[in-house]
Amino acid sequence: MEGKRSSSQRGDLLRKIREVTRSILEDLSNGRSPSVSIDRFRNYCTNPNANCYCSSDFSKGKEILTLQRECHAHRLNVMLRVLLIVQQLLQENIHGSKRDIYYMHPTVFSEQSVVDRAINDLCILLQCSRHNLNVVSVGNGLVMGWLRFLEGGRKFDCINSLNTAHPVPVHVEEVKDIISVAQYILVVEKESVFQRLANDQFCNTNRCIVITGRGYPDVPTRRFLRLLVEKLRLPAYCLVDCDPYGFDILATYRFGSMLMAYDAKFLRVPEIRWLGAFPSDSENYGLPNQCLLPLTADDLRRTEAMLHRCYLQREEPHWRLELELMLQRGVKFEIEALSVNSISFLSKEYIPSKIQGGVHM
Ligand SMILES: [Zn+2]
Repeated sequence: MEGKRSSSQRGDLLRKIREVTRSILEDLSNGRSPSVSIDRFRNYCTNPNANCYCSSDFSKGKEILTLQRECHAHRLNVMLRVLLIVQQLLQENIHGSKRDIYYMHPTVFSEQSVVDRAINDLCILLQCSRHNLNVVSVGNGLVMGWLRFLEGGRKFDCINSLNTAHPVPVHVEEVKDIISVAQYILVVEKESVFQRLANDQFCNTNRCIVITGRGYPDVPTRRFLRLLVEKLRLPAYCLVDCDPYGFDILATYRFGSMLMAYDAKFLRVPEIRWLGAFPSDSENYGLPNQCLLPLTADDLRRTEAMLHRCYLQREEPHWRLELELMLQRGVKFEIEALSVNSISFLSKEYIPSKIQGGVHM
């Protein structure tokens, strides 16, 4: 059964869509070039000393799309085509994926990223989140542990099989009746680490919920984590590789991504704490040298660029210091390297001792 709220949201969006298309058609029929103004959002800048307001969620300027510039004309063409598809999805109240949309005009769109940008533009223009447009992405994330909930009418009972991976729900806004006796949420970067914990039956001895986005987390994974943190009021810890990618993934959970900065207020999890692996862990846990890999030229470039992000300086200066340490040492290592002396070291010692001892930042 459809809630009243989502039905009136759809009505509002359809009305806005009609307004946008009407104003474009009016311009065209009067011989004017239509102009569409898109707010621009960012969640960080690269001036750590600037008196910026990057974390404020306000737009940071506007971009005016007109037919005068060829690249704008193409962008408008793509945007209008996607808008018509979205209108149809909303009218029929069905869902489509970004990939479905791409395949409706593959020669015009040429690649998926073009569609993705148009969807982001439309969210900004219509002031909504992607799921409001009935556009969903295939969920990539996995969850296990002390958790039970309903999605739509479907029951997810993770407690029944504590160490089994369940897909993160795609329709996060329909999740309700969340029940949990967990004491914390553990977010791991990689599926391999998630599977390691599952094999070690980590959740039998640790009352927690484990989530992985399998690399860079997608929107459903981040929204689901955010929902759990809000509803259950549990601490959330993040375990990533000690390399620039791992750090960037941590930052994506904490601050949101630049690409979806317009929606960061619904996607970021400011409460998340960094559990490891810290650059300083290599010494503290006596990692042998052969487990440490030199940072590549690309790693160095990425790390230096990340050090300039204003949000680190302002909101997580301790994270920034560890990142600086990574750069100084010039080495990186994977989470799994910590298992060098014992295969279950992560689940038996590293994670429980860090959480009990409050060794996180
Ligand atoms: Zn800034």
